[in-house]
Amino acid sequence: MIHGPCPGGPLAIPEVAPIRCRLCVRGIVQGVGFRPYVYNLARRHGLGGFVLNSPRGVFIEVEGPAETVEAFIAALPAEAPPLVRVADVVRTEIPAAGESDFSIHESDAEGSAFALVPPDTCTCEACLEDSRDPVNRRFDYPFTNCTNCGPRYSIIVDVPYDRPMTTMAEFAMCADCLREYRDPHNRRFHAQPNACPVCGPRLILREAKTSSEGPASSREILERVADILRDGGIVAWKGLGGYQLACDARQESAVDELRRRKRRSEKPFAIMVASVASAETLCFVSARERAVLESRERPIVLLRRRPDADLAMAVSPGNPATGVMLPCTPMHDLLFRILRERRGREAALVMTSGNISEEPIVIENAEAEEHLAEIADAFAHHNRRIHTRVDDSVVRVVAGETMLLRRARGYAPQPVFLDRGEAEVLACGAQQKNTLCLTRAGFALPSQHLGDLENFETVRFFEETLERMSRLFHVQPTAVAHDLHPGYLSTQLALKMEGLRHIGVQHHHAHIASCMAERRLEGRVIGVAWDGTGFGTDGTIWGGEFLTADYLGFDRYARLRPVLLAGGDAGVREPWRAARSWLLEAFGEIPAEARWAQMAAPERLRIVDAMLHRRVNTIPTSSAGRLFDAVASLIGLRHSVSFEGQAAMMLEATADGAAGEGCEQPYAFALEGAAPIDVDLRPMIREIVDDVRRGESQAKIAARFHATLVAVIARVCGSMRGELQLERVCLSGGCFQNALLLEGCVRRLRGDGFQVFTHREVPANDGGISLGQAAIACEILRQGS
Ligand SMILES: [Zn+2]
Ligand SMILES: [Zn+2]
Repeated sequence: MIHGPCPGGPLAIPEVAPIRCRLCVRGIVQGVGFRPYVYNLARRHGLGGFVLNSPRGVFIEVEGPAETVEAFIAALPAEAPPLVRVADVVRTEIPAAGESDFSIHESDAEGSAFALVPPDTCTCEACLEDSRDPVNRRFDYPFTNCTNCGPRYSIIVDVPYDRPMTTMAEFAMCADCLREYRDPHNRRFHAQPNACPVCGPRLILREAKTSSEGPASSREILERVADILRDGGIVAWKGLGGYQLACDARQESAVDELRRRKRRSEKPFAIMVASVASAETLCFVSARERAVLESRERPIVLLRRRPDADLAMAVSPGNPATGVMLPCTPMHDLLFRILRERRGREAALVMTSGNISEEPIVIENAEAEEHLAEIADAFAHHNRRIHTRVDDSVVRVVAGETMLLRRARGYAPQPVFLDRGEAEVLACGAQQKNTLCLTRAGFALPSQHLGDLENFETVRFFEETLERMSRLFHVQPTAVAHDLHPGYLSTQLALKMEGLRHIGVQHHHAHIASCMAERRLEGRVIGVAWDGTGFGTDGTIWGGEFLTADYLGFDRYARLRPVLLAGGDAGVREPWRAARSWLLEAFGEIPAEARWAQMAAPERLRIVDAMLHRRVNTIPTSSAGRLFDAVASLIGLRHSVSFEGQAAMMLEATADGAAGEGCEQPYAFALEGAAPIDVDLRPMIREIVDDVRRGESQAKIAARFHATLVAVIARVCGSMRGELQLERVCLSGGCFQNALLLEGCVRRLRGDGFQVFTHREVPANDGGISLGQAAIACEILRQGS
């Protein structure tokens, strides 16, 4: 066809045929201002159609010129309001209907059956401004929030997410608040926790020593709190997800006293400061760390302390890092403003979970006064109930990426989109750092950090969380996935559940599946799973594993050559036991020099040596965690510890300070045998012993030890690639919280041409196990195997 000039006039612009797209958006898209946002976005693009909430997510139909529809779809996740998380958009083209207007349709009748719930979020800038502005009606109001910020997961009792389904139900909005709530142009349109000093929650001060009524206004109460802190006192106050214990982080006696009362010997305390500028006076803060500190999740960020930081020694004894967080509610912000007004300088407060030892964080006013009576000098309560306890999250920036160490407030209950069928399962997690995980509508919903399942309170917390999450997300599991360790309370809880299919999942397989699930990997991968302990399929303790894995199964390609661990759990608290075992393995006999006799009392050495020689009350383990312990003890860094991983942390910190000749030089090791291949590290232990004898520095030995582990991982992965043609490596397990090991492995493996995957959504430690168990169970059910 030949185009010519149109007869009889100027060129007519050809009419563009409109297209119509149906979009199903899944993720956190309900109760976060998503529908008004879609409405405004579509109107701005001049598109027709509608938006609608449904049990499957939010449905949108848009109609208009193809180019404009594309622009709308691209902008949809990119410009969304802060609390929106788009997991997945499924797009279908449908015939145009000639619609040119856009509208918000009423929710589907069944629209409330399943909705994802946003995490608790720190106060937004606009709300902070409101609470700092003397002429604003929310001036100094500690519970200021809006659609973009404030409590969510901790106050939601049930869905649909609506005020009566939250702990705000008992507060009736005043006329001013109601007006904001109903106005689509207001920042507080449908903000369920909306409140003000007239109608909302308020602070209540209780001092242990006085029974008289204290001050009433928020400012007066927090001024009194500031006085108590100045005088070296300890205050328990109700934060976003639970009680926190605060004291002045610069007063040695106050921090010592908190340690004594909380029965916490060495585990570091986190601190809170008012701003990044304030954090920078105490710690080194990189650009990435700054971004995480200021992120709306507001986690505790582990930072390297400045040598001249004026913090009490007792904040993080013997540890070069300090956990730092910024205020996450207007209440925290107001206290720091008062402290600044009073002292003319920025305060630093210890801010630690309100609990005794390792019990779950306390959330109820009466519970706090009962449990924390021996710890706190005063209580700053408030009368908004916390429905779900969510502790502070802990992260560390490694190789420019944020790594979660404890996933709780700000992150939970963010979903991971599994896309492995619609089965509803429960995964019970591990014993330490336990989390559980439920699945629904293709999503995995990992719980917040629950803790170590070794006391009644934590088991109760597990059951409470299971009950609440099942209700909130309307999950009715048909299967329960659990660890293989018969001694884990999580396993025992799972096995007691009747009428469900039980799916046992090997610990390290779960670690690798967890990494695969959050990175959405399909097919088979190389999995390097290194941690402290995990029950193996042969009844021994694993922990230095090289697996080939997919969701359905795994093969153990290689492992660290097993050594005996004497005395079970005591071996975890006493690294010298692992050291004795490695000496015996490496030399056939424990060398008789005096230096190796100083690890423990002579009588205890004799007993453990006898156990190792006779192989009684011992268990073989390929654990990488215990190897770290052994080396820390051999070089005289630490013979016993007060929490798991402490020796490894010190070893990493020691190596981190190493510089100079030969620090990158790996020690010797050998690979032997097959299926699984044994990585023999006895040559390394012999060289380390030689170095210790020659008086080599701890820093250099520690650095070379890390270099050896990187070399081991690179060598075994290289061999797996050669044999099995696998290019993708997942690194998981608690050992990969060690920045030196993780950065070393990532750099080396990428240099060798591997695709390397690490954790981003859940911790590499046992806190991430339940996600892997859930992914494996869903795949087994989907395949009908
Ligand atoms: Zn806000
Ligand atoms: Zn009000």
